[in-house]
Amino acid sequence: MLRDGVLILPADHVWVQPASAADLVEQITPLAQAYLDGTRRLLCLDPAEAPDSQSALNLPALFNDILQTRDLPQMALRHIAPDAPGMRRVISWYQEEHETAKRRNLLRKVATIDNPEPALATLQIIECDAPGAMFAVAPVIDPSRCVGCDACLRICPDEVLTQTTPEQGGLFYETSAAACDGCGLCEDVCDHRAITVRIRQTTPEPVALSEWACKACGVSVHPPLQNRNEDGLCNICARTQHHKKLFQVLDG
Ligand code: SF4
Ligand code: SF4
Repeated sequence: MLRDGVLILPADHVWVQPASAADLVEQITPLAQAYLDGTRRLLCLDPAEAPDSQSALNLPALFNDILQTRDLPQMALRHIAPDAPGMRRVISWYQEEHETAKRRNLLRKVATIDNPEPALATLQIIECDAPGAMFAVAPVIDPSRCVGCDACLRICPDEVLTQTTPEQGGLFYETSAAACDGCGLCEDVCDHRAITVRIRQTTPEPVALSEWACKACGVSVHPPLQNRNEDGLCNICARTQHHKKLFQVLDG
């Protein structure tokens, strides 16, 4: 049931420095969960100014970008310095809430960092095709490096990356970024460093592919259009040149 409430964020939940995309997803998921539960106000217990570090990310601002690019009502943000009058009492209640799960009238929802539910994906799927729709994290393929091996598509546990067929209007790698949890498996599996999981990313462009048969081994391949091997060899034959030693066919 949706309820209007206030989510209190301590300073270390407002300005975050995620070590990875997965870290960011873990940090922002409680906001998504609270939003889906009806919370529309955030009380940020820190000054509004950014910390010195360039890698610091304002979590409520990013969350509001995700909402705003989907034309959804944004969270109302109120920044309060921890040393502001009365705040010591609020912080003390906040800490008690974590310890005793009481005082729920004041803290209608409390941010936690251990909520594994796919709340972020549920939220991000809304209007995910809108121009400029923002995602907390998303994988981006560099077509100039990609060889079309499909390894990232196969390993992704959330089917974020897919390949379209000619019947669907052409061969493309497409990204459904809403479900990406930033696990980084796609990055790890790519031998060509052609895919990067980025933070604060709009919808990645589809990557147009070209399908053809390797001149040497005959295997059907589908690298990105702009990365077609000039000599008509697949990625493996181009690298190993084994076809010359084994068959002596189609040389030159
Ligand atoms: S991004 Fe890497 S793993 Fe994915 S298809 Fe391209 S080369 Fe293969
Ligand atoms: S493997 Fe899938 S879920 Fe994991 S970071 Fe890559 S695209 Fe996202």
